[in-house]
Amino acid sequence: MSDEKRVAFVTGASRGIGRAVAERLAREGRHVVLVSRTAGPLNDLKASIESSGGSATTVCCDVGDSKALADAVSDTARSLGRLDILVNNAGITRDGLLLRMSDEDFDEVIRVNLKSAFVACRAAARPMMSNRWGRMVNISSISGRVGRASQVNYCAAKSGLIGMTKAIAKEFATKGITANVVAPGFIETDMTADLPDLVKDEARNITPMRRFGQAHEIAAAVAYFSAEDAGFVTGEVLAVAGGMGM
Ligand code: NDP
Repeated sequence: MSDEKRVAFVTGASRGIGRAVAERLAREGRHVVLVSRTAGPLNDLKASIESSGGSATTVCCDVGDSKALADAVSDTARSLGRLDILVNNAGITRDGLLLRMSDEDFDEVIRVNLKSAFVACRAAARPMMSNRWGRMVNISSISGRVGRASQVNYCAAKSGLIGMTKAIAKEFATKGITANVVAPGFIETDMTADLPDLVKDEARNITPMRRFGQAHEIAAAVAYFSAEDAGFVTGEVLAVAGGMGM
């Protein structure tokens, strides 16, 4: 089967990196399932993809709600007849120093950033196994590799994603299913827009390329892992971070 006929399920597609990933996969001919909590931006994106000749479906779902997410994945596979590519991109931050971090802020970040990927991978594995073909791509962060003050919860989730992806990669290596990680550095999106100028300057200073990345630069890495001819690559972590953490 060619890449064009495949179905991709992208969480956090309403804006930022997820939107760029969805646009890229749609441009390459995939049918894209756009997932986030807010219908408005998803419908706008669907319309924009369709006006460029692509095809998309929208699903409103809180990925922190395990049952809703598992149902969304299974319903997609059932209604579209297949599920080939899963991009676990939805993510949040609840930053704070360890001594002041609440249990709620820790749990919420783990639930949305890490547990959701576990739930979606588990639900997607069955339809992928039926076709003996699948691409799972989990969006971690360079912070999950190098650690970052005030992000104990986020770093735990993002580094957990790396270990989890490698375990999945080993379980499914002989079944035509790959699992890989993209680890972005600082990227210009809503997530980083409100950082104080001082923090943005520090981010540029610790990035060898001295700039923020763009969402489309992450989408390019996801497109690579999602492709037919990336079939011999699994359990890898690709940093797209302007040289940070090399
Ligand atoms: P944004 O804040 O711009 O977008 C986050 C996306 O996730 C939105 O589409 C949002 O949609 C969705 N989302 C958040 N919570 C939920 C939820 N509970 N259920 C469903 N969807 C949800 O973030 P980015 O695009 O910057 O980040 C995307 C991913 O990349 C995240 O995992 C992030 O951790 C990671 N990353 C980002 C970096 C950066 O510098 N920007 C650096 C490293 C990693 P909605 O609110 O409509 O539900």
